[in-house]
Amino acid sequence: MRFLFLSFLRASAFNKQKQHATFVSGMTDASWVERAAVAALMASSLAITWRRVSAVVETIRGSRQTPDFEIAPLGPRIRRFLWDVVLQGKVIRERPLAGLAHAFVFWGFCAFALVTVNHIASAFGGRFLSPSGAFGHFYFGFVAVWAVLVAVSIAGLFVRRFLVRPKWLGKVSPESGVIAGLIFVLMVTYLSGLWFAEGSVSERLSWWLHTLALFAFLPLIPHTKHLHLALSPVTVFLKRAGFSRIPPLSGDEDFGLDTGKDVTRIDALQAFSCVECGRCSEHCPAYNTGKTLNPKEIILGLRDYLKQHGPGAEAPLVGAHISEEALFQCTTCGACEFQCPVGIQHLPMIVGLRRGAVNTGKWEDDFGTKLFLNLERNGNALGFAPSDRQKFIEKAALPIYDATQEYCLWLGCMGSYDPQGREIVLALARVLRHAGVTFGVLRKEKCTGDPARRLGNDLAVANVAEANIETLRAAGVGKMVSICPHCVRTIGEDWREYGAAFQIEHHSELLARIGERLPQSTGARENVVFHDPCYLGRYRNIYDEPRAVAGRTADVVNPGRSRERSFCCGAGGGQMFLGEEKGKRVNLERVEELVATGAQTIGTACPFCQTMFRDALGAAGGAAPPKLLDIAQLMAAALPEEPAQTA
Ligand code: SF4
Ligand code: SF4
Repeated sequence: MRFLFLSFLRASAFNKQKQHATFVSGMTDASWVERAAVAALMASSLAITWRRVSAVVETIRGSRQTPDFEIAPLGPRIRRFLWDVVLQGKVIRERPLAGLAHAFVFWGFCAFALVTVNHIASAFGGRFLSPSGAFGHFYFGFVAVWAVLVAVSIAGLFVRRFLVRPKWLGKVSPESGVIAGLIFVLMVTYLSGLWFAEGSVSERLSWWLHTLALFAFLPLIPHTKHLHLALSPVTVFLKRAGFSRIPPLSGDEDFGLDTGKDVTRIDALQAFSCVECGRCSEHCPAYNTGKTLNPKEIILGLRDYLKQHGPGAEAPLVGAHISEEALFQCTTCGACEFQCPVGIQHLPMIVGLRRGAVNTGKWEDDFGTKLFLNLERNGNALGFAPSDRQKFIEKAALPIYDATQEYCLWLGCMGSYDPQGREIVLALARVLRHAGVTFGVLRKEKCTGDPARRLGNDLAVANVAEANIETLRAAGVGKMVSICPHCVRTIGEDWREYGAAFQIEHHSELLARIGERLPQSTGARENVVFHDPCYLGRYRNIYDEPRAVAGRTADVVNPGRSRERSFCCGAGGGQMFLGEEKGKRVNLERVEELVATGAQTIGTACPFCQTMFRDALGAAGGAAPPKLLDIAQLMAAALPEEPAQTA
């Protein structure tokens, strides 16, 4: 910072002494030949730039209108724009060093806008920033500070991209190097222009080098990934409301993203905004475990499709540019969408493309077919007879909801049929009874439709969702609570498409709220490493509540990847019900990380996560694997003994 401050002072002092330096005062003595050359170069540069920009704009405008798009409410859009674009908050928060370098380049460009216009205008006698004026005097020095910051930052980013080469950046394009070089030249020529003596050859050369770099830089922007400079502020502002929200279909003829005709303007805008930074790939559990899926390639695949076919084409989207295998490896964990600095929403696209393949019958997968049949015939994803659920409820003496209790306890497929899921339900029931919270369960429940929804089978979701909504309305259900973040998400958000608006929360939220009624241990405490479920953390923004609950009886520690950066267990997006995984199993990768913390217990808050971890612990747990407990089980274990209740 000291260096920058000295640069600033030096530039300011220089401006006072040499107010006629060409760069600062402008090339006011330009000959007619020079003016003609500048005009010709500028016209060519702008024409090439506009040709490409207009083609992109036409592709976006030519795509179909986004049916679910609403600009209101404006408040969150403006706040996001200020944080993500103006302050570059997301870029810096998620990758501090590279993010700060990127932010300096962005802010530097903003600062440079005025001197750049002044620079060109000066050649035609239209200079409006004068070094002799107070503002001009300050501004030229101010921009000099930014020039130093941008030059250092762009050099650092160049080294990272071309020498360090993190694997998630993928193939490095030569244009990136050219662009970085041009930006560096722009900064250096601005700074050198401040120092050369007035009227010297060096000064003139510096002015011209700056001008040539500028006119070469402009057309490269829309022809490369640097198009994001123009598009990403718009993309961030206009992105769909909600996180990883699956947009509703717009009628009986809408099957999802099948051909180019189905691509919406928002999809097209987002596809052209990708800066190829690879943040999505860096955090993707599928990409990190050697699968075909790379979320960046899905976005770039859509962009290439639009470049090749234009808007509204009839060619299938899945095929040459987008791999079907990759699409169906996604766990819908949302890490990509959470990380993307330019507002690209991967999940509406990935699930939209799955919809296009499933709703039109193009996707053929034995496991997927079995899952959909289970939902249709048995009403649950695990394929059990519904009477099994009834027997469990009776054996466990769970009260039936009759609208007099505070909560309807939604069991979900895992809580109804899976032995571990049932243990979590029983533990929660004990804790609620202990805390004096009244609850009841429904006599009948079907799957919420979560796996079918994420896999893109809209008919299967509609069937189970509508049956459940009828049951819940008939039972007069008010507030609901569930042990499963997937059920909470599907009931609370996805069912809105079917007209439902139930109030449902995850048990971690309820338990945290009634925390003072729960047991607390003050003696020797074990360590619990808490795994943030994707559908509770990133999807619902619940991070502190499960930690507060677990923290009543244990010391909570975090694995390397936690909270917003949590690494998926591998079950979501229907993966739990599909076949063998390619590459390393995602649950194994995560369990190794959890076990490496040395904690005595792995704390979970999702029955899917717990099942995935139990499978993986056999391979990664060692001779003395840690215990595996839901936060409800942690609480129940600290309660005084009561007559045993088993599944
Ligand atoms: S949602 Fe998760 S699994 Fe799917 S592409 Fe994004 S990061 Fe990868
Ligand atoms: S989709 Fe977003 S996070 Fe992924 S490479 Fe493109 S800009 Fe980066």
